[in-house]
Amino acid sequence: MILVDSKADLLVNGMGDNLLREILALLRKGVPFSSLKTIAQTSYLQALDQEIPKNKNWPKTITLSAHETYFQDKKAYAVNFKHVEQESNKLKAHRIVQPVKTWNAIINPPFYTMTENEIDQSFDLPDTRLPHPKYKKRGPIPVYEMIKFSINTHRRCFGGCSFCTISAHQGKFIASRSKKSIMKEVDKVTEMPDFKGYISDLGGPSANIYGLKGKVQSICDRCVSPSCIHPVVCDNLDTDHSAMTQIYKEVDAHPKIKKAFVGSGIQYDLLVKSYNKKANDSIDAYMEQVVTRHISGRLKVAPEHTSDETLKVMRKPSFKHFHNFKKKYDDLNKKHDLNQELIPYFISSTPNCKEEDMANLAAETKDMGFRLEQVQDFTPTPMTVATVIYYSGYHPYTMK
Ligand code: SF4
Repeated sequence: MILVDSKADLLVNGMGDNLLREILALLRKGVPFSSLKTIAQTSYLQALDQEIPKNKNWPKTITLSAHETYFQDKKAYAVNFKHVEQESNKLKAHRIVQPVKTWNAIINPPFYTMTENEIDQSFDLPDTRLPHPKYKKRGPIPVYEMIKFSINTHRRCFGGCSFCTISAHQGKFIASRSKKSIMKEVDKVTEMPDFKGYISDLGGPSANIYGLKGKVQSICDRCVSPSCIHPVVCDNLDTDHSAMTQIYKEVDAHPKIKKAFVGSGIQYDLLVKSYNKKANDSIDAYMEQVVTRHISGRLKVAPEHTSDETLKVMRKPSFKHFHNFKKKYDDLNKKHDLNQELIPYFISSTPNCKEEDMANLAAETKDMGFRLEQVQDFTPTPMTVATVIYYSGYHPYTMK
């Protein structure tokens, strides 16, 4: 609908760094803008009777039900969504076409995952790290204040949580920066005039997925799963946390850093062996590093709910694993003579969550000694499974 409403010639979906390079290279070669029809991760409109341009990399095209059907047939909306989510999360995806009014919206498959070198190039650009000067007279910008001393170590997320849209706009396969590029940015932040020695966040969509990927790439190449860690941690996923721990230690040892916080959410399920069954000891070293060096008195973690039935629809693991995580956290605090809090985050009213589930959540967390301060009510967000269920009444994968 963005294309229809805006009348734009071309829409670049999601993170556009590589695409922009490709588009500009083609334009520089003299290719007319109107011929840019087969660039990955772009969309455009064309007349219904016009032939869809051929591309040898995308031999198959999936045609969705027309946009207008959504208003009468909510089932069709749910069916369409499954295609969109699966193709967004595949390495070798198909092209999607959807009729809308008098056009076909042509949605080309996602671009390949950025290589380390490419993502470094983007982050190494000589930007000022400052808001646009046009905001100068408007006073402090709250979101800028929050991020100005934070470092993004990677992009994308393979969690596939049903209420989250990150993989829809960034993708599932993690693109991580090199340690050199991260440390270069740390140096740059320490030179900022009002820097007082504190990095507010060393992280990404989830903090502890930096550098994680499949052990056998050819298996990932064929994968259609929207999550690498739900309903179980994939056997092919290498969850070694050593590279992250090493980066945290180096940042921590930087002479101009007093403390580098890990403010991004931690995928706690990867840190307990009851869930991440084949994990090696690197998860323990990572957790010890975070608990002892990178939090300030409290760690915020999002189990999201206590009801296993609700958690299943959220694509989150059973709450019993959070109990194990809490024990590990408490033990580490005891070992290091620390008295830090664990702050759990929850979401109420997601699809399949009933009133009694919320009552049980209140009772169970009270029994665990928590005084809840972080409960968000579900907000339907475009392009998520939860919102499709909320709107259509159908789960797009089970059609129940
Ligand atoms: S094969 Fe496993 S690790 Fe690879 S993308 Fe699929 S779920 Fe993720």
